[in-house]
Amino acid sequence: MNQMKKCGVISIVGRPNVGKSTLTNALVGEKIAIVSPKPQTTRNRITGVVNRPEGQLVLLDTPGLHRAHNKLDEYMTQTVRHSVADVDGVFLLVEPVAKIGEPEQELIARIKALGAPAVLVINKVDTVKKEDLLAVMAAYGQAHAWRAILPISAKTKEGLAELTALAMELLPVGPALFPEDMTTDQPERQVCAEILREKLLLCLDKEVPHGTAVELTRFSQRDRDDVIECEATIYCEKESHKGIIIGKKGAMLKRISTLAREDMERFMGAKVFLETWVKVKENWRASLSQVQNFGYREE
Ligand code: GDP
Ligand code: MG
Repeated sequence: MNQMKKCGVISIVGRPNVGKSTLTNALVGEKIAIVSPKPQTTRNRITGVVNRPEGQLVLLDTPGLHRAHNKLDEYMTQTVRHSVADVDGVFLLVEPVAKIGEPEQELIARIKALGAPAVLVINKVDTVKKEDLLAVMAAYGQAHAWRAILPISAKTKEGLAELTALAMELLPVGPALFPEDMTTDQPERQVCAEILREKLLLCLDKEVPHGTAVELTRFSQRDRDDVIECEATIYCEKESHKGIIIGKKGAMLKRISTLAREDMERFMGAKVFLETWVKVKENWRASLSQVQNFGYREE
């Protein structure tokens, strides 16, 4: 008998650094969301598309929930609020800790209000002993009527097959929303800007990268030899930050650019010529219109 295919949207929510982007990437099997050991690196809502014989699962990877400190934060927080509405299911991703934190409590309240089926996903189980997980499961089990509670490791991929199967159960029968060879609805250009931002976060000290924005000023079509020419401008808030980003004799910028180029090439399956510039744009975070100029925009 021919089974009907399914399709639907699942939102992955959770506090910053819990592993939302890592999980999205692991499920999609291709690098689309940026991953960083520092919190708040995902600024845009990134959609991952998982294609399986049973159907198509569309994932929303959201910026972490946190208090707004400026216009950019406010904008990011709003994106999170919106992403818990209008979905077929929610994955609440949590650390393997038995105490339910404030961000988790707020998200659980929102999940209850929404009434969407939710799965409690305990991530990073590779870092704890199996017997310690029972307390975590018990604590969360009392907080909500979850469809399921599933321990996973986005890093080692433990439990991911079970998670995909659970997701498919939540999805309605329906036609695919995206072509089956597609893994994200974000233009390559935007993913490349995110990759460059990830490398800034990776290479620089905390206070510098959170004041940076990346704009791709040029992004050529693939030519016959599969080469993409790309020019990026990194905006920072202070002249001193510009010096740090460029580094001694340009060494830091070169390191950042090389790492970014390698990831871009892997992502697009093409050769990339990447040219990077650094400019100072004071206080850009304070003004929302400027934030929107950099492309952080809802839909
Ligand atoms: P996000 O802010 O929720 O999107 O979190 P990220 O996906 O950026 O991950 C934050 C950090 O946690 C990164 O350093 C990841 O490598 C790490 N991480 C994510 N999942 C796991 C996991 O299952 N096990 C371990 N040990 N680390 C993980
Ligand atoms: Mg993230």
